[in-house]
Amino acid sequence: MDRVRPAKAGSERDRASLFADALLRLETAGVHADIDPEALERLKHPRRIVQVSIPVRMDDGYLRIFTGYRVLHDDTRGPAKGGIRFHPDVSVDEVKALALWMTFKCSVVGLPFGGGKGGVIVDPKSLSRLELERLSRGYIREIAPFIGPERDVPAPDVYTNSMIMGWMMDEYSHLNGERSPAVITGKPVSNGGSLGRDDATGRGAYLCIKELEQRRELRPEDTRVAIQGFGNAGQHVARLLHRDGYRIVAISDSQGGVMDPAGLDIPALASAKNAGLSAKSVYCLCSVHQCDLPRGQAISNAELLALDVDILIPAALENQITGDNVESVRAPVIVEVANGPTTSEADAVLDARGVLVVPDILANAGGVTVSYFEWLQSKSGDYWTLEKVHARLREIMCTEFAAVHERMEALGVSMRTAAYVHALDRLGAAISSQGTHNYFGNEQA
Ligand code: NAD
Repeated sequence: MDRVRPAKAGSERDRASLFADALLRLETAGVHADIDPEALERLKHPRRIVQVSIPVRMDDGYLRIFTGYRVLHDDTRGPAKGGIRFHPDVSVDEVKALALWMTFKCSVVGLPFGGGKGGVIVDPKSLSRLELERLSRGYIREIAPFIGPERDVPAPDVYTNSMIMGWMMDEYSHLNGERSPAVITGKPVSNGGSLGRDDATGRGAYLCIKELEQRRELRPEDTRVAIQGFGNAGQHVARLLHRDGYRIVAISDSQGGVMDPAGLDIPALASAKNAGLSAKSVYCLCSVHQCDLPRGQAISNAELLALDVDILIPAALENQITGDNVESVRAPVIVEVANGPTTSEADAVLDARGVLVVPDILANAGGVTVSYFEWLQSKSGDYWTLEKVHARLREIMCTEFAAVHERMEALGVSMRTAAYVHALDRLGAAISSQGTHNYFGNEQA
């Protein structure tokens, strides 16, 4: 429609931007979705970007100022939801892309949430535990006016965990003058968290693979899997697949990987990797490639992505499968547990080759789904059994996987485009049911 001037997403500089790449996916899906062009245009722009400076007194007495962000992409379908990342490479562009993906992820699985994301530029492994706590509390003090149980609800992401969520909830409660467990999810179970949140992201991806198992008649013992990233998300998907007999032939972390064509002993690797964790250390500082395995062979992350396997699971960071290395990727199925591991340039090549990519906004939606359960429990004070969490997660993941798969076949598009179309239809319906107040008026919601 002529009324809408599309966001530009084409120059060399734009192509290097994660957010511009995310917009390309929207444009591709927008063609097939039942959504007003103006509403689609609105979704290309985050509603709010907050940048904060966080002063932290270091253990040596010096003051350091850290930079953090909180982006609210859209909250039409409910309060914004999205994790907080502590990483040296955090940038506003990355946080904007991650927030946009959260809007689509919540919509694809039908949760009553919008999308948000936060991040702090820091190498958290270089901080002491007390410095990390001061930084976590300082970040919450700065973004407190913008978050809240009905406004924007953070959660863990890369290099943040349940302990950090507990500190953040405590800080927000102090500022607010009342206990506010529903302000954040991924909290420790001992302090208002949900059973089953710890492995929810990995379990959601595992349920997607179980759906593929039926449709593609996969035999677990003949199915070779490589997993990049062995943190919260990667470890749990590895554990669940290994338990079902899948052959996990390679895993890696930020320092390198390990491979065994006969299949790795995942429980042994997880306990070796986590052995460095103690009451004092927040992060695991050892790497899987240093583990003393009887048969394992060290490989690089680049080699892992190029392995001849049946399923490749990127579960670390974004931009791992790109125009530069996509030709070397041999797996016929990719399950994106990380957010944004495949660029749109690489996507086009994979699509043309008939590679099935289960997209991030579906494959890793188990985490936010159990975060939703946690939010409900924190608000009501009625805590669920693990069986109930698992049953409701299974119901949502399997139903939405089937819906996206059906869309893919009906439209003849990639699974990623089908997932975006599915999400856009829900977003479009929610936006149009609001009337013009939020979208075309001048008032703040
Ligand atoms: P994590 O901090 O627990 O683990 C990250 C893992 O990635 C670690 O094993 C780390 O060593 C590894 N890693 C870091 N840089 C790497 C590199 N360059 N190459 C290979 N491995 C590398 O984080 P996580 O929570 O497991 O998150 C991993 C991915 O999953 C991220 O993209 C995150 O956004 C996504 N995700 C996480 C959740 C969640 O609930 N934790 C939910 C949805 C999506």
